[in-house]
Amino acid sequence: MENVIIIGSGCAGWTAALYTARANLRPLLVTGEQPGGLLTTTSTVENFPGWPEGIDGYELMTKMQAQAERFGTRVRLGSVVSRVDFSSRPFTVVIDDEPVQTRTVIIATGASHRHLGLASEKLLDKKGVTYCATCDGALPMFRNQPLVVVGGGDSACEEATYLTRFASVVHLIHRRDTLRASKIMADRLLAHPKVKPVWDSVVTEILDVKQDKVTGVRVKHLKTNVESTLDCAGVFIAIGHVPNTQIFKPFIETDANGYILRTGAATNIPGVFVAGDCSDHVYRQAITAAGMGCAAAIEAERFLAAEQA
Ligand code: NAP
Repeated sequence: MENVIIIGSGCAGWTAALYTARANLRPLLVTGEQPGGLLTTTSTVENFPGWPEGIDGYELMTKMQAQAERFGTRVRLGSVVSRVDFSSRPFTVVIDDEPVQTRTVIIATGASHRHLGLASEKLLDKKGVTYCATCDGALPMFRNQPLVVVGGGDSACEEATYLTRFASVVHLIHRRDTLRASKIMADRLLAHPKVKPVWDSVVTEILDVKQDKVTGVRVKHLKTNVESTLDCAGVFIAIGHVPNTQIFKPFIETDANGYILRTGAATNIPGVFVAGDCSDHVYRQAITAAGMGCAAAIEAERFLAAEQA
């Protein structure tokens, strides 16, 4: 019987592991298919306090893992939780087809970037296609170059506004002619002299797979069906996120978009706690996820202590 199983290995998961390990709970952490989570897919992380020169995303996650393991975290590397049963305690977590019983669970499964679903998007990933302006915008390959942002929500506005620091011009491609983003963010963006909106349009292809780098996008105007090409060195896709919460659906309450609802770090099921981007569509930062991981660990520890008292 486990005391606590932590599902997910981003900042939230590793921090929850560090704190529960130091509380002598010998946590078991299941990394999922992508150990380290989304941060490992970015380049330099420049906004994590304590790393004034920035730190490679992969390296940061490796250090978090080492710190969690140093205090006794056991890690199921590459393992996947395919199913859970939270209908009664102890809970059952199925790890690589093996059912494991546990007193508490911390869900830290994160969120995935929504993709356009184009073949060229996949092939040019990290070769000019990116999902995070804060992570990649300052890279030399994007400086003083025309850039494209896809999307019309707050994220797209935030990304596009940020990119105006580096780009020669930012083309904001949106499938409608009004932005979904909050008015203040939309107004600020559209007033910027470097921003050129491309309304009622979708990206149909990212160029150029043959050159193995982004050189432009093919864009279709949805009202006229006319296709055109825009030159750019980077494509920043900001069309929302999908929280990785599907497997918890029968038991755990979420909002309409699938983000887990919580009070503090507690879910609707006593003994199941949550941390990080699978429960946060507002901040979505490495440091906030880490803070939530800490909170979830403290709550799990107190929950177990109260049961034994
Ligand atoms: P979002 O609000 O869901 O917006 C996604 C945008 O992408 C929408 O404009 C949508 O178009 C477009 N889109 C979706 N699928 C598409 C597709 N397949 N092809 C082309 N376009 C597509 O997502 P978000 O901007 O990531 O924001 C998520 C939440 O975080 C929101 O609640 C937002 O307010 C919040 N947020 C807040 C801040 C802030 O306050 N600083 C910053 C970022 C995010 P349609 O408009 O046509 O649906």
